[in-house]
Amino acid sequence: MRRAPGAVLIITQLADNLTRGVEAVGDTISETLFEPVIRLGVTGLARAGKTVFITSLVANLLDRGRMTGLVAEAEGRISAAFLQPQPDDTVPRFEFEDHLHALTGPNPHWPDSTRAVSELRLSLRVRPSGLLGGLQGPRTVHLDIIDYPGEWLLDLGLLDKSFAEWSAETLDRLEGRAEGAAYLDLVRATDVSAARDEPVAKALATRFTEYLNNARDAGYHDCTPGRFLLPGDLAGSPVLTFAPLPEEAGAGRRSLLREMERRYEAYKARVVRPFFRDHFARIDRQVVLVDVLGAIHQGPRAVEDMRRAMTDILASFRPGRNAFLSRILGGKRVEKILFAATKADHLHHQQHPAFASIMDALTRDARDRARFAGAETQAMALAALRATTEELRSHGGADLPCVRGHLKDSGKAAAFYPGELPQDPTVLLGPARDGADSWLGADYGMMAFAPAPLTLKPGDGPPHIRLDRAAQFLFGDKL
Ligand code: GDP
Repeated sequence: MRRAPGAVLIITQLADNLTRGVEAVGDTISETLFEPVIRLGVTGLARAGKTVFITSLVANLLDRGRMTGLVAEAEGRISAAFLQPQPDDTVPRFEFEDHLHALTGPNPHWPDSTRAVSELRLSLRVRPSGLLGGLQGPRTVHLDIIDYPGEWLLDLGLLDKSFAEWSAETLDRLEGRAEGAAYLDLVRATDVSAARDEPVAKALATRFTEYLNNARDAGYHDCTPGRFLLPGDLAGSPVLTFAPLPEEAGAGRRSLLREMERRYEAYKARVVRPFFRDHFARIDRQVVLVDVLGAIHQGPRAVEDMRRAMTDILASFRPGRNAFLSRILGGKRVEKILFAATKADHLHHQQHPAFASIMDALTRDARDRARFAGAETQAMALAALRATTEELRSHGGADLPCVRGHLKDSGKAAAFYPGELPQDPTVLLGPARDGADSWLGADYGMMAFAPAPLTLKPGDGPPHIRLDRAAQFLFGDKL
């Protein structure tokens, strides 16, 4: 009786692995056949909270006292959780222990942020639910967590563009931005059809990279190529030493212009495509983290820009749009995508519903499209590491819902109220879409808190807000 379903399982999983075209590096046959692997992608733009999210998620899966929103844990079916060597020998390991020590050690501080792709394998021993639970013993489910910068997803758009198209578009964008002036001056002073010269190429790439960094700091999110901001081990290499230049018909083969074009094509072939093929194409479940409060604080333009960046990031999850991606995915798709607004511990829980509906509205376009492509999506607000406590402070005859914590820079205790978030998200998103310069009649503050010193009870992970619900949505169905 029990053999038949087992055989079906084996066949479907084999077929699954074949269509994916994945070399299960390091996986033993028995693991591939009997131990499910969930590949969970964690992404978001720089400073969105990826490193803190993964660190706290893993710590809370190892010590599950605060994970009652994870159904398998609430039902007492998870008997053990342990870290294992990851299956991909050439991908850097996510530095979990160092990051956890930073957050929960004697001098708590925020860990170094994501700069490149990294990976970690956490394995869970789980007793199946329902009838099967009585028949089968516990099985092992592997959770492979892949951390990668969201900026790299934005590079997908480059695959369809020639150097001339990308240059024209980028130079046009720079014209409208103060941050672009210095680079445009340099381009005007450069003879693009002169013989290629490495110092000139380097000066252009350096100035262009400065522009990208300044634009990002000013709240723009359309800052490609993504590796210019987060170069990892490619820093200084020729694939990152190019910049947009105006087309000039007579430019010869040995000109600066043609060399830049060659490097742009090399960037696509050697950097962008391998990332999508080796990492992105293998993801089953995805969480996209968004620093919504940071954007609201920066103003309407940053919010609108972030909304667009979310839509662009999500374009990667609609493979039909891109021939290269369709080919490498071969029919596989990401099954679930969670959009999570991070750092919700900056808000008293009274403000969480308003915050969640802003997140919902901000990602609605992106989510509608993903749903259309067959993925189940959800938006929520969470804090991977709760650094504050709540309090009500009387102010002008009313009780103001505040949070209290220690400031990151001075260590001083401070109470914080970010401003009244509207119940109706269109109050913020409307002006953002219409290109308003500032929020009308409102100002939204932001404060950087340090992680609070912790004394954890045995069995408890670090404090969080809704991390367990996020875990349930992302992989609870597989446990
Ligand atoms: P990454 O660039 O996406 O890896 O971002 P990080 O995980 O390094 O987070 C960037 C910064 O955001 C951290 O240094 C913290 O200051 C802040 N942060 C991230 N997560 C939280 C959180 O859950 N609560 C609070 N209060 N701050 C957070």
